[in-house]
Amino acid sequence: MAIAPGVASAPSFRLLFATVGTTLAAAAGACASTPSGLAPAAGEWSAARIDSVSILDDASTQWLPLRSLLVEGGRIAWIGHVDSVPEGPEVPRIAGRGAYLVPALIDAHAHDAANDRFLHLGNGVTTVRVMWGTPGQLAHQREVTQGRREGPRLVLASPGHDGQPPSWPLTREVLSIDAVPAALDRVASEDWAFVKVYDHLPRSVYREMLREGANRRLRIVGHVPFGATLTDALDGRQASIEHFTGYDRALAGAGGWSAPDSLQIDALARATAEAGTWNCPTLGILRRFAVSRSGAVGAEREMRGRAMLLRRLHASGARLLIGTDAGIGIIAAGAGLIDEMEEFVAAGLPRATVLQLATRDAAEFLGDSRELGRVAVGYRAELLLLPQDPLESFSGLRAPSGLLTADRYFDRAQLARFRDARP
Ligand SMILES: [Zn+2]
Repeated sequence: MAIAPGVASAPSFRLLFATVGTTLAAAAGACASTPSGLAPAAGEWSAARIDSVSILDDASTQWLPLRSLLVEGGRIAWIGHVDSVPEGPEVPRIAGRGAYLVPALIDAHAHDAANDRFLHLGNGVTTVRVMWGTPGQLAHQREVTQGRREGPRLVLASPGHDGQPPSWPLTREVLSIDAVPAALDRVASEDWAFVKVYDHLPRSVYREMLREGANRRLRIVGHVPFGATLTDALDGRQASIEHFTGYDRALAGAGGWSAPDSLQIDALARATAEAGTWNCPTLGILRRFAVSRSGAVGAEREMRGRAMLLRRLHASGARLLIGTDAGIGIIAAGAGLIDEMEEFVAAGLPRATVLQLATRDAAEFLGDSRELGRVAVGYRAELLLLPQDPLESFSGLRAPSGLLTADRYFDRAQLARFRDARP
């Protein structure tokens, strides 16, 4: 049976899992019949089963082999040993064949993700934080929500709030403190998840946006403006800082990124952790800019400074996001996220940590920690099958064996077509 729309057995499967807690306890140890011919294929479903995958134990970060999962209504309904799958109606089945199963990825900083949607999906990215909202991206997200378009799901920051001169199209200029309430009212009345702030906001306006935003429980994200300081951002509890803006100016008095003062880096990291501000450093695009500015050797020195800050932030308990800045013509969507994950590894973070940053931690930042970013019962079945152990190498992320979204399965060949932009 091919995986196809309108799986006949779906309703009874749904009934079975309505009482999942007790039913599964009673059924533990029972082995489901294993009809043959259920080859993995691209298609839609409302219920499915994945067999013989390894999943990561949260506590020990050890792989648990030979696991099966039952998926119902877009969520993980059951996880257990392949020999103890509860009996139930026949559902589409994916032969995991020993694949490593991890949560689908989240790009925490991109642009134009509606246009790049197949590149994101082809690389296992099912959620994207879009850092400069546009009407077109809002329309895309509505269609994804309605099931009329394949993902990724977009979590949209507002159009940027900036001073003069504005840097990008669709900028909302906010030039005085008096204009702040109306600007925030407007964001609150629209469908944006965050308020984006940008380079040329006057310092007084920026500080007022942080203060007034906190009063209204709006989350402010973006650049620390040129006229403001990192201390302004941390005192104002900015939700996330992009590209290490603000840190560069804080370090400028010492040796800059090329010869940073270790004690000062420690102090900045601790202050960031205390403020609860997350950082999305986008190292890959910063490296590109550094190379064009300072050449390969100079760029390497600069990036070592940023890597030091990254390690100290992590060691201090400050929170990190992995994002690419894809969608502005410099970093490739999808593949760029794997490159960015490799940047984090090169900076000294363990692969298990980096994988968690791009999944569970990003979901937490987005307010989806009970929905997304874990392979656990009750979570959305947005899952990536990998041919290689991602704790050893991320090369499997560049050619995943399969991707589940809420009600779709994309096999290896389909994902390859997406990556080649031949959907
Ligand atoms: Zn950006």
